[in-house]
Amino acid sequence: MNSRFKKQISLLGSILGVSLIAPTIFLSISYFEYISATRAMLRANVDSGVQRIDFLLKNGSDVLSDVARNVDPNTPNDPNSKAILQRIVYDKPLFREIGIINNQGFLTLTSFGPVDPPQKVSLDQRSNPNDSSLQILGPLQTVVMGEESIVLSLPTQELGEVNALVHPIILTEPWGVDRSLHLGNDGFFAYINTKNGEILAGIGIIPSLETIKNEQTKNLIRFSRTSYNGDVLVISEVSKNWALKKWRRMLFISGPITALTSGLMFFGALQLINQLEGLDRELKSGLENKELVIHYQPILNLKTRECVGSEALLRWYHPEQGILSPGLFIPVAEKTGLINEIGKWVVMQVSQEQKQLYDKYLDLYTSINVSPGQLNSGSLDDLINWFQKPSEENQPCQPHRFVFEITESAAAIRPGTITTDILSRLRTLGSRIALDDFGQGYSGLSYLHQLDVDILKIDRFYVAAINQNPQITNILESIIDLGNKMGFTMVAEGIETEEQHQFLCSRNVTYGQGWLYSRPVPIQEFELFLNRSRSSVDD
Ligand code: C2E
Ligand code: MG
Ligand code: MG
Repeated sequence: MNSRFKKQISLLGSILGVSLIAPTIFLSISYFEYISATRAMLRANVDSGVQRIDFLLKNGSDVLSDVARNVDPNTPNDPNSKAILQRIVYDKPLFREIGIINNQGFLTLTSFGPVDPPQKVSLDQRSNPNDSSLQILGPLQTVVMGEESIVLSLPTQELGEVNALVHPIILTEPWGVDRSLHLGNDGFFAYINTKNGEILAGIGIIPSLETIKNEQTKNLIRFSRTSYNGDVLVISEVSKNWALKKWRRMLFISGPITALTSGLMFFGALQLINQLEGLDRELKSGLENKELVIHYQPILNLKTRECVGSEALLRWYHPEQGILSPGLFIPVAEKTGLINEIGKWVVMQVSQEQKQLYDKYLDLYTSINVSPGQLNSGSLDDLINWFQKPSEENQPCQPHRFVFEITESAAAIRPGTITTDILSRLRTLGSRIALDDFGQGYSGLSYLHQLDVDILKIDRFYVAAINQNPQITNILESIIDLGNKMGFTMVAEGIETEEQHQFLCSRNVTYGQGWLYSRPVPIQEFELFLNRSRSSVDD
């Protein structure tokens, strides 16, 4: 598999990944949302259950203590005793009946009055006499009630047991949960006596305390709390299956939409890659067919107007579309990696085309643009290695004739970076480094001193502002001032008027280029310009 193909596969993989990230995040978040909403619902129900049982137990304890205090053990048949029990049953609908079972185990008094004859209560329906706190029994079918009741029982020394009967429904109705939840199929809600594991009340199919304790909760959402005295566990659980019903429905609807948008993005990217590939192929064959041409824009000493060098600027003589500027095809070459090949070709081509001029003018130099892609991909590294190994191919290349222009955006040229290393190797070979389009706003003046470059090329934007925009002209003056003070060679780009020329001269900018002197021209025209400029200076 060649490396470009691998690159494409990984690019497509990344695009597919990116197009799937958003829906995946959305679905994951909504998954946890549904789970946590269900957990919140269970918590609210259990909390309200705990409130109910706590209220019942506290009331039961108060009422039964009241009875124990006020009913005379010696006269249980007293009408007053009956009245005490009756008042409770009338006043507090929580309790369906109050009764007293004497120490011999006979029910002797209810709110209806004395039980005559007293009725024996079996041991399994009685509380533990050795525990003087409020006890919870049942639910039981008691002597007085046909239906099952929860029995709250307070053992006392003199009276025996004072009991209150409570209908279990008090703990479960009315029940406010999501209407789509069918307790029974989907889960349960229960009050369980923690002392004996009896289920006091509940809704749904309620497992035993033992099962609950040992059960795996992986597929369940469960919440529980105990009553204030720890005697009753209030617990509710539902299956994750129920909690995720709505989420699954959403998945069912959004799944195909997500797949469709991801697919569209993927194929869009595929087309873009194909388009780039097409351009790349064209550019490659353009390079082979010698459709790429270098134009040279003279760089002048502003005071003497002598041409000191030139900037090499690529042009593509496209067979169908005419002359294409680098702004159109350099970005494509950068994306596809062809820029590395082009970069080396430019160096060789300049060296060949200017060989005679270099021999004639020993100080003549050429500025060559280096794109960010070239800096980051290691192609400049290759170029340096190529320079260093003498060969027939690189024989005409003289590194000291070159200024390599890097843009501020590419110039992560802070001390210690790879770029700095490459640049310092180039300088060791005798080349110089220029910071192109300076002032476009990446480096700023604040760390000019950290830049390991020789030349600052002042961006055309500032030159165009001369005498047009006073604020930008002020900034330009600061840049020039600072650049000069810090010992950089300054080259102004895009000089179009005599006024701009005069301004820059008066501010001691040494060099410049622009349409005022010459547009970028083919080598023959450049040679004429150079010779003319040198001879006029000699005169
Ligand atoms: P750059 O290096 O900033 O080049 C200066 C640009 O300003 C050139 O545009 C040039 O034609 C234009 N220019 C020069 N004087 C004037 C003037 O007085 N007025 C105006 N309005 N424009 C002027 P061009 O040739 O279109 O190049 C655009 C960019 O393409 C260059 O910007 C450079 O970054 C890049 N480039 C050109 N050749 C190469 C190359 O061989 N390799 C790489 N990597 N990039 C290149
Ligand atoms: Mg440039
Ligand atoms: Mg520039």
